[in-house]
Amino acid sequence: MTDTSRTTSRILLGDEAVALGALHAGIVAAYSYPGTPSTEIMEAIQAAAPEGVAAHWTANEKTAYEAALGASMVGRRALVSMKHVGLNVAADPFVNSALVEIGGGLVVAVADDPGMHSSQNEQDSRFLADFARIVCLEPASPQEAYEMTREAFEVSERFHIPVLIRLVTRICHSRELVETAPPIEPRATAKPASAADWTLLPGNARRLWRRLLDAQGDLADWSEGSGHSTLRLSDDDRGLGVITAGIGRNHYLENLPDLGYIPSHLHIGAYPVPAWTIRRLAERVERILVIEEGYPFVERSLAGVLPIRWEVDGKASGALPADGELTPDSVRAALGLPARPRVRLGDMELPARPPQLCKGCPHGDSYAAVLAALEGFDTSVVTADIGCYTLGALPPYRAIESCVCMGASIGMAKGASDAGLRPALAVIGDSTFLHSGITPLIDAVAHDTNMTVLVLDNATVGMTGQQPTVLPESRLEPLIAGLGVDPEHLHVIEITPRRVDDLAGLLRRELDHPGLSVVVAVRECIESAKDRRRRERES
Ligand code: SF4
Repeated sequence: MTDTSRTTSRILLGDEAVALGALHAGIVAAYSYPGTPSTEIMEAIQAAAPEGVAAHWTANEKTAYEAALGASMVGRRALVSMKHVGLNVAADPFVNSALVEIGGGLVVAVADDPGMHSSQNEQDSRFLADFARIVCLEPASPQEAYEMTREAFEVSERFHIPVLIRLVTRICHSRELVETAPPIEPRATAKPASAADWTLLPGNARRLWRRLLDAQGDLADWSEGSGHSTLRLSDDDRGLGVITAGIGRNHYLENLPDLGYIPSHLHIGAYPVPAWTIRRLAERVERILVIEEGYPFVERSLAGVLPIRWEVDGKASGALPADGELTPDSVRAALGLPARPRVRLGDMELPARPPQLCKGCPHGDSYAAVLAALEGFDTSVVTADIGCYTLGALPPYRAIESCVCMGASIGMAKGASDAGLRPALAVIGDSTFLHSGITPLIDAVAHDTNMTVLVLDNATVGMTGQQPTVLPESRLEPLIAGLGVDPEHLHVIEITPRRVDDLAGLLRRELDHPGLSVVVAVRECIESAKDRRRRERES
């Protein structure tokens, strides 16, 4: 168990608490791709990691996961962190790593974004942990984020599985005084006892899958007895049992003093769901209200846990909104409490503040060129990707027409061109290109697809706070040439306000070319340039 002799305390963000918990658990490696709301985990590790700890931004979440898996394979502890949609990218190694004989503790911290403050969806990572048949821990505070992260490494080594820490935006970005325990020393390197336990040939994989299934009872027993799920039966519950998970507990407890009675309460912080404890609650009550952030994961699980049908309310029943973040007010309504009086701001109108590119952002010049290049075409399609440049969908540019997932711009432009729509233009940033744009470009090379790719190379991951692109100096031209793009239709141009016409002309020529072309428009992000100049002055 985690050493609980707490010796120091400090104010930490939830993300920072995960980072410190991992460092105090003796990790020797941490990997991540930036993405709100998980970015600060790696930033905190890089700021605090002692010598000998590798703390690397990676090309994408899959490569991050695989690097952490390699450290685990040789017996050492590793953390991999990402936002929720990043786990889709890492899903292949994530799901398969549940079968191998995990050596050093492997913990994946995943930050969900209910309310989609900076994401494309609200997916709930508890379902992916369940899908992989592994343990998931869900902290309800930065203190729990610290403690659970430390403990997750022990659980991972005990059951030889990866363990998922499920965070949500409000936990990642909340600050709290966190009590910490003394760090432990990293484990020594040790190769796995059996290569067969790491080689998922069908014969091995069938045996290891059976072993994982057989372990499910032990995982459930561990979850029941972990202390992360707490049941408080009440003599004054009036037939109501409340189940909270993660941050749902905070909203429930905020409203409890107004209720006038005390429901029996089960808080769940560890999964598999504690089925026996849920049954103990159910024996005492007639109705159950489930308060959980994200999808109705626990609420749906009840159908397989309770032998007869209780009256169950939650997100699936409509008692709580199915989308967006939980709020104290939405939980209040589900508890049957009247709305709190609202503070009115009178007739004061707050001005709308739509998101926009920074003043002077190089993407603005690139979009001016795109719009000029497309003038005169009856039809065209401009697929785009995820980054600051996605703001090109909004006024004043309205220059792009899609943003689905990392790297999709190039594959979608290929599909649109294959389907006969021309010209097809894909717009993608340098970091997104390295993350997931290379492989669809190989497809386009293979078929010399009639399309143009515009790579906006600003040498940074601008949207998440100017983390360095994984290949920090522009090395895109030889990389793209190496994929087989015709050198006559591969161009690198510095994009400045004075060169908008040059880029527009170049794009227009390549849009007219009946094959694949790639244009790399280079200029440093101005926020990144400011940071660089400040660092240079200070050094
Ligand atoms: S952070 Fe950089 S890339 Fe993003 S909008 Fe601002 S200048 Fe442009």
